[in-house]
Amino acid sequence: MVTFLAGGTGTPKLLDGAAEVFDPAETTVVANTGDDVELGGHLVCPDVDTVLFHGGGVLDTERWWGIADDTTQTDDELHRLADAADLESGPRYLAEDAQTTGREIARWRRFSGIAEFMEIGDRDRAVHITRTSLLDEGHSLTEVTQTLADAFGLDISLLPMSDDPVATMIHTDEGVMHFQEYWVYRRAEPTVREVEFRGAEDALITPHVRDALTDPVVIGPSNPITSIGPMLALDGFEELLYETPVVAVSPFIEDTVFSGPAADLMQGVGYDASTAGVAEAYPFADAFVLDTDDGTDLDRPVVKTDTKIDGPEDAARVARAVADAFQEVS
Ligand code: GDP
Repeated sequence: MVTFLAGGTGTPKLLDGAAEVFDPAETTVVANTGDDVELGGHLVCPDVDTVLFHGGGVLDTERWWGIADDTTQTDDELHRLADAADLESGPRYLAEDAQTTGREIARWRRFSGIAEFMEIGDRDRAVHITRTSLLDEGHSLTEVTQTLADAFGLDISLLPMSDDPVATMIHTDEGVMHFQEYWVYRRAEPTVREVEFRGAEDALITPHVRDALTDPVVIGPSNPITSIGPMLALDGFEELLYETPVVAVSPFIEDTVFSGPAADLMQGVGYDASTAGVAEAYPFADAFVLDTDDGTDLDRPVVKTDTKIDGPEDAARVARAVADAFQEVS
């Protein structure tokens, strides 16, 4: 049995070939939900959805989000209507007092659907409507995710990190904004001062996640701050990681990041934006997989391989390095 901790790009890329090394029937993926938003009344779980769509063979692997060849008729019409009605586009947060009403799971990240600031494809939207409707019918996010995983024919188990709301809020020189405003709308432009996981102090680890964390854990090449950070902010999560073998794949080659805002976010909260910084952020990791060109001197065992993942063969190679790293620490 093995458990992967996933954000929306790096670990899903690794999963693309991990089945050659780790039996899917014995693989669990715990997905970050700190990036989730309620948009126009629908709960969007970007990291959960990337794993769902990948497992279902429909992921757009150019962007690593959304469904390949999806249409955007509803999104286009939302923008057309907003333009015609002279309604401003961009993230439109619901009023302060509405942020803690409505669905509890959507707290502090409730946006109006006017000119939606995140592009949602038509088939993608059907997933959000199904998810939100099942939540409204009284199911937990864990149950709903299982139902969707069955619908997409996943051969792995997929779990949200919690059934409770955790909202990743980025404190910047231009004010506090939800991670999706910072990343999708502002393209990581504002300077990061602090990252807050709002709600984490009251959010619980589900029994399913607790159980999954008794197995060896793989942290794929992830953004340590906004993909793994929300999980570590849950009471007891990090303690469980200290009690099981953990192998982490660096999302950097020394101080060069492969993609995304990880470097800005790490610097913003006081870590070195590098493999060394990742190791500092993961004191519970027992071993690391680093790129062959990464000369970082770490205080824990290292297995090296080419860590650039561009398809199933690369992913299988990195997964083999992860398995080798487990051998070193078992
Ligand atoms: P998000 O949810 O999309 O923000 O991202 P994740 O947390 O899943 O992963 C983003 C991290 O994956 C970034 O920091 C990238 O540097 C890293 N990454 C992306 N592609 C690759 C790759 O091919 N190899 C490695 N080692 N890391 C990658």
